[in-house]
Amino acid sequence: MELTDRFLKYVTFDTQSSETTGTTPSTPGQRVFAEALVKELEEIGLEDITLDDNSYLMATLPANTDKPLPAIGFIAHLDTSPDMSGKDVTPRIITYKGGDIVLCAEENIVLSPVMFPELNDYKEQDIIVTNGKTLLGADDKAGVAAIISAAKYLKEHPEIKHGKIRIGFTPDEEIGAGADYFDVEKFGCEFAYTIDGGQVGELEYENFNAAGAKVTFKGLNVHPGYAKDKMLNASLLAMEFASWLPAGQRPEHTAGYEGFYHLTGMAGTVEEATLSYIIRDHNRMLFEEKKEALRKLVEKMNEMHPGSTVLELRDQYYNMREIVEPKKYIVDLAFKAMMAVGVTPLVKPIRGGTDGARLSFMGLPCPNIFAGGLNFHGRYEFLPVKSLEKSMETIIKIAELSALKD
Ligand SMILES: [Zn+2]
Repeated sequence: MELTDRFLKYVTFDTQSSETTGTTPSTPGQRVFAEALVKELEEIGLEDITLDDNSYLMATLPANTDKPLPAIGFIAHLDTSPDMSGKDVTPRIITYKGGDIVLCAEENIVLSPVMFPELNDYKEQDIIVTNGKTLLGADDKAGVAAIISAAKYLKEHPEIKHGKIRIGFTPDEEIGAGADYFDVEKFGCEFAYTIDGGQVGELEYENFNAAGAKVTFKGLNVHPGYAKDKMLNASLLAMEFASWLPAGQRPEHTAGYEGFYHLTGMAGTVEEATLSYIIRDHNRMLFEEKKEALRKLVEKMNEMHPGSTVLELRDQYYNMREIVEPKKYIVDLAFKAMMAVGVTPLVKPIRGGTDGARLSFMGLPCPNIFAGGLNFHGRYEFLPVKSLEKSMETIIKIAELSALKD
């Protein structure tokens, strides 16, 4: 099966994950997809294929040389974002001639280079787009397809010598749970790569340090006609608190290595109000300072209104650079592989996290490599076919180059 056909088949599986079910995988569609992949891996002739109760799928392409080489893993995720439906995805391949692409005529949904100038990089290329009603699912089915096609290619080309290759497909990456039940010991690799990046060339080994915060305000409700000097309105406390945070440190005002506080949700009555934040920074020290600043503001509110405000603060993941940088050859190997297949590596910090960040801290150093798609998590997602091919070629080349070093 050709790589593109493989991808087009995978996006027909509805694997949207859910924040609310509390199960693993969070949705049954991911299990269905994983079971279908098991069959394909069997057909290709991979070994040690295991699909555990939590729908973590692992498989092995054994080494074909006696040379002592590190086992290398390639990892992608089964689920698609909860942000947008991934049901009845109806992809379309078009040769992009420039200008607008009408995704859905009746609802006037248009993929336009005015809004997405990166489209201009793909003129005269075949790109896969949505019908405007769902996401595409290149995040991360492009990664799944690239890994499986690469394994098949290596299996069919025994003249390319390589060490042991391990494949891992995980559920629920999009809800931050992809690494929760990943058995690093069973995977048994010295290092791995997630194939979960965007545009062609992306190579990432730095990500945010991340925490989640929930601030709860308790008020005192009294009949508003007789509230003078008695009422304490929790919603107003929440609004005041939100205004104390630095306005410049919001997602919409930051880029590159700049961190932020992001208000992700608010709810409130007179009695009680809550603010939910995520806190992000590449720099560990600045990250700790941001958390400390929140604690101080909660203290300040409690000084003004004793006992009114409670902070729950929870670290989510850390910057993998701490783990990967001492083993920089892992990044260098991917860099060389990209160059060898004619791709210019774009090394840049991820303004988010990956499964690989948590896996790195679990003992499996794990940079992230492009799968080729753009505009993830929405209806404007698209995947240039050539970028997908380059992702597959990069995987093959990593396997090949890792066996050449002495
Ligand atoms: Zn992804």
